Amino acid sequence: MRHIAIIGSGPAGYYTAEAAQKRFGPEVQVDIIDRLPVPFGLIRFGVAPDHQSIKAVSDRYEKVALSDNVRFVGNVAVGSDVGVDELQQHYDAVVLATGAPNDRKLEIPGGDLPGVLGSAAFVGWYNGHPDFADLKPTLEGRHVVIIGNGNVALDVARILAKTRSEFVGSDIVSHALDALDSAATEEITILGRRGPHQIAMTPKELGELGHLARATVRVDKDDLPDPGEDVLLEPGIRKSVTHLREFAAIPEAFRADKSISINFDFFAAPVAVEGDGQVERIRIERTRLDDQLRSMATGETYELDCSLIISCIGYQTPPIDGVPYEHGRGRFANVEGRILPGLYCVGWARRGPSGTIGTNRPDGANIVELIAEDWAAGLGTADKLGRVGLDGLLQSRGINAVQFSDWKKIEEAEIARARDGAPREKFVRIDDMIAAQK
Ligand code: NAP
Repeated sequence: MRHIAIIGSGPAGYYTAEAAQKRFGPEVQVDIIDRLPVPFGLIRFGVAPDHQSIKAVSDRYEKVALSDNVRFVGNVAVGSDVGVDELQQHYDAVVLATGAPNDRKLEIPGGDLPGVLGSAAFVGWYNGHPDFADLKPTLEGRHVVIIGNGNVALDVARILAKTRSEFVGSDIVSHALDALDSAATEEITILGRRGPHQIAMTPKELGELGHLARATVRVDKDDLPDPGEDVLLEPGIRKSVTHLREFAAIPEAFRADKSISINFDFFAAPVAVEGDGQVERIRIERTRLDDQLRSMATGETYELDCSLIISCIGYQTPPIDGVPYEHGRGRFANVEGRILPGLYCVGWARRGPSGTIGTNRPDGANIVELIAEDWAAGLGTADKLGRVGLDGLLQSRGINAVQFSDWKKIEEAEIARARDGAPREKFVRIDDMIAAQK
């Protein structure tokens, strides 16, 4: 019997477990370890609460979780409760599938003023992540500025703009729903340091902005390149740019009954955040593109008054003591997923925060092939203790792991306490999750 430990129970973790099952069958036992008592990582805490069809992929992960040779070990933090080196003593392969849950820092003066939030924090808050349950974003001001032109910026803008009734059927947590319902937001500006052709927004997600009950979208037609240039774009981005052209063409008369305006401000790089102990304004520099399509400063600056800034400029994998790390790229140092003999990484922890949830599937299969190659070449001893060794360590440290059957009790309790029309009301405190499984 061989033993694999996967750290992180998000998409990368479950696709790796699924691939290991297919590749090795009952000859391998897989433990999926997560620091939280609840599984599915990005699916639960990252995917927007009004995108329930995307979240349905967790049904597939559940099938893997319920199979005989796969086990969920929740509420165990690797790095503090148990070391990577200790896991390596007990498992033939240790795979870090820890995702990229930390925000890339907005490195401009004033970027750490209260009122500047990273998207991990803001998204975590509305998705009920225990780390951000007490965030209390400043929603009393009329203007929110979002930095970044990716899909996370779109999620954040849409969630800020939706009415309470547009959240029916979603699992947005009640603390966020109530706070957003009483928010004073009238204007949301999305800053892109480059232009419409350089956005990282997919068409479906961008198109959704055009169907919001109380919001209208403004794009300055002068920012759009000549339509003939769109043919040079990759088809997905071309469709997204078509949405931008549609937004630019909305007649003023159609905007009259909308109380929120979502403004795209292209060629706009944030240079400083200012305010007396709290965000009051953001200073922006107009940019132009150089011949490599990089944003270049023009020297022209202007200010926007705002009281909340949400920086959606990408994520980083948290380092773990003793594991080689590539600081510039915010991920583990690896060659195609190999970090050290017997230690691997997969998903965003391997390649950085890009791609869709489905991208993690081939990632999982690839890493399992590398593990198979390494075992065939003689790595690992096949006489490791695996989960028996881990359970011994946890017991000696008084750590009570949460099993998948415990999670199912937590889930049942979340479903039972859902408000009308919602699939669940998530527990946002670890203690409440633990209490619900007893
Ligand atoms: P992303 O797609 O990498 O976009 C990051 C954006 O931030 C880019 O527009 C980038 O501009 C900008 N940026 C980076 N550093 C900046 C700085 N210092 N100042 C100003 N702007 C800066 O990242 P993301 O939006 O966080 O999304 C992460 C991944 O999750 C993506 O693969 C995304 O598609 C996926 N996702 C998918 C969905 C969905 O399918 N529904 C939802 C959410 C997220 P430059 O291009 O100029 O660098």
